[in-house]
Amino acid sequence: MNEADALRAASLLESAGYRPVARADAAGLLLLNTCVVRQQAEDKIYSRLTYVAELKQKHPDLVVALMGCLVGKNPRETARLRERFPFVDLFLPPSDLAPLRAFLEARGFSPARAADDDLPPPPLPDSQTGRSVVAHLPVVLGCSHACTYCVIPYRRGGERSRPSAEILAEAAALAARGVREIILLGQIVDRYGLDRPGEIYLPELLRRVAAVPGLARVRFLTSHPRWITDDLIAAVATVPGLAPYFEIPVQAGSDAVLAAMRRGYTAGEYEALVAKVRAAVPGVGLSTDVIVGFPGETAAQFEDSMALMRRIDPDMIRIAKYSPRPLTYSARHLPDDVPEAEKERRRVAMEAQLRARLTEKNAPLLGQTVEILVETIEKTGRRHGRTPDYKPVFVDASSAAPGELIQARITWAGPFSLIAEAL
Ligand code: SAH
Repeated sequence: MNEADALRAASLLESAGYRPVARADAAGLLLLNTCVVRQQAEDKIYSRLTYVAELKQKHPDLVVALMGCLVGKNPRETARLRERFPFVDLFLPPSDLAPLRAFLEARGFSPARAADDDLPPPPLPDSQTGRSVVAHLPVVLGCSHACTYCVIPYRRGGERSRPSAEILAEAAALAARGVREIILLGQIVDRYGLDRPGEIYLPELLRRVAAVPGLARVRFLTSHPRWITDDLIAAVATVPGLAPYFEIPVQAGSDAVLAAMRRGYTAGEYEALVAKVRAAVPGVGLSTDVIVGFPGETAAQFEDSMALMRRIDPDMIRIAKYSPRPLTYSARHLPDDVPEAEKERRRVAMEAQLRARLTEKNAPLLGQTVEILVETIEKTGRRHGRTPDYKPVFVDASSAAPGELIQARITWAGPFSLIAEAL
């Protein structure tokens, strides 16, 4: 979501005549997009801001814009940030380019497109700042699901689906500019349309986006297990152009921990859902998120998460150590009682289990032929792209251009990436 927001900001700046530069100290405007989902991400912003403060002293004309979840949507908080970081000129809430647009307009820029705060222009594929082959397209903004650990509803506001007509127009515009893959985004993307009376739902939206001429692949993320419908699974299984891929965060393998997180399902229900998805969608890639060290998580409950991972056998896990976030229920009411060293032990153990399993699982891919959408050309000349089920592949090819779908034979299979030769 942040990547999509940042690309849209870049695209707006480019349409106003700005060009990317390689070094921050050569810039006339610096825009920092921020994430506060965990303390570590937040700390990164503060250290970066220290550097920016020094830069601003050396270059007083530098315009500094701060964007995203650190800014949030509450004007009183913005006022506090303004006091704390007086060298910041512009504050942009998440997915909201209005302050940047107003700044540009005050400097004589008139945007071609009607201003709508939640509908920034799509990224330009010829932009040097963004990827041109794959574009992220936000379809549900914000979230209203109050998982006890999660700060996102407080930073990005409540759930709002965007009108399908606008999404489709944007998808067509992206495809017309050479984008080959679109990833529809939402915190709970499978709830698309539920907050908009009369709107279509995600399966139909996916059908219509997949039918946009020029697109090779369409994906969506992330799904909440409670909201994945049979119709959605059927769409992924049958609609040409929908890539066989689901991102379904599970967060924990213990029912007690899941209940304390207020996720709204049990480990058994999650397992049954995964079985259904695997049965319906051949070759499906499955990715999930797990939090280790949630308040009160015992060593045995962590082992439940380890065991669940062995049973559902995902193709990727994003493992996060629990981090208490301001305003969330868990930060206010549940002591952060798993010591950092123990959180790290659990993270490392789950990563090791994943690495070992993916090494084993990817080994038989050696010698097989896969379809790859070429995304970029690496400095080494290798092409980087992904398989339909979202495995990253580096391809030895002398001619394939970004945007091409190619067939390639796997020559090396590691746990987290593959190497192939173009056929
Ligand atoms: N709705 C999105 C959430 C994006 S946040 C989703 O379901 O994927 C991405 C991931 O960050 C979450 O899935 C969760 O695993 C992790 N996360 C969120 N809040 C966290 C916290 N307080 N501590 C540690 N990890 C957290």
